[in-house]
Amino acid sequence: MIKKQHIIDRFISYVTIDTESDPASKTTPSTDKQWDLAKKLAKELEDIGMSDVTIDDMAYIMATLPSNVDHEVPTIGFISHFDTSPDFTGANVKPQVINNYDGTDILLNAEENIILSPDYFEDLLLYKGQTLITTDGTTLLGADDKAGITEIVSAMEYLIQHPHIKHGTIKVGFTPDEEIGRGAHHFNVKKFGADWAYTMDGSQIGELEYENFNAASATISVKGKIVHPGYDKGKMVNSMYYATDFINALPRLETPEHTEDYQGFFHLSSVKGSVEETVLNYIIRDHDASKFEARKSLL
Ligand SMILES: [Zn+2]
Repeated sequence: MIKKQHIIDRFISYVTIDTESDPASKTTPSTDKQWDLAKKLAKELEDIGMSDVTIDDMAYIMATLPSNVDHEVPTIGFISHFDTSPDFTGANVKPQVINNYDGTDILLNAEENIILSPDYFEDLLLYKGQTLITTDGTTLLGADDKAGITEIVSAMEYLIQHPHIKHGTIKVGFTPDEEIGRGAHHFNVKKFGADWAYTMDGSQIGELEYENFNAASATISVKGKIVHPGYDKGKMVNSMYYATDFINALPRLETPEHTEDYQGFFHLSSVKGSVEETVLNYIIRDHDASKFEARKSLL
C-alpha cells in the first residue's frame, strides 16, 4: 500500500520547484529551471527501480518497467509534462492541503482576500469529502501537470512493489515545454517504443479524452508612431487603436466563452500596448482541420 501522505509529499516536492516555460525562448527546454525538476525526476525513476532511465540533452525523460509475464502483451506508455504555464507565475508555490473538503468557499489568501468558490468553479463540489491541494492564490499550483507525473511515478512504484500484479512492458515519458505547444516536438516516438500511450493530463476524475483539436498560437505586433502629443497632428499613429480594430474585426462570438464541444475559437490571451507598439497574443483551436486552416488564414 502506498500511503496518501507519501503521494502528497511527492506532489508537493514537484510543485515547489519552479518550471515555468517561456514561449519567447528558442531553446529546449525553453527555461533552464526546468532542468531542476527534470534531473530530480530521472533520479527518482531510478530510485523506485525503473529500468533504462534516460534523460536527453533537451530534458526528455524516458523509462521502462519491464513486463513480468511470459506471453506477448502490447507495450503501453504513460506521458506527462513537467513545465507549467507561462500565463501565471509558478515561483514560490505555497501549497495548502485541505482535508475532507466540506463543499464551501475556500479562503486561499486572507491578506489579499482571494477565495476559491464552488459558486464560480462548480466542479469543486465533485470533490466534497476529499483532500484538496490548492495554492495560496498568488501563484499557479502547477498540478498541470505535476499531478500527472505524481500519478505515473506512484503507479510505477506500486507495480514495482507488488510484482504479483501482472503487466506487460510499460514505458514512461516526461517532457518539457508542453504549455508552450512544444512538448511533442522533440519526443522520440521510436525510442519510446510504445504500441500506444496515454497522456495523464486531464481535469475531472474519470475523464478519458480520445480525440483532440488542432491548435496554433499567433503573436501580432502593431507598430505605431509617436512624436510629441503637443505637435502630433497628422503624425501620430496610435498602435492601440489599430490593434483594437483588429480585435473587433475577428468574429466576437467565436471565443472560448461563447463556444463548446467541437466549436473552434480565436482566443485573445493577452494585449500589451503603448502608442508605439501593441502586441496581441492569440490561441486558435478547431477540431476540424479545414476550419482550422481557415482560421489561420483569416488571422
Ligand atoms: Zn497540461
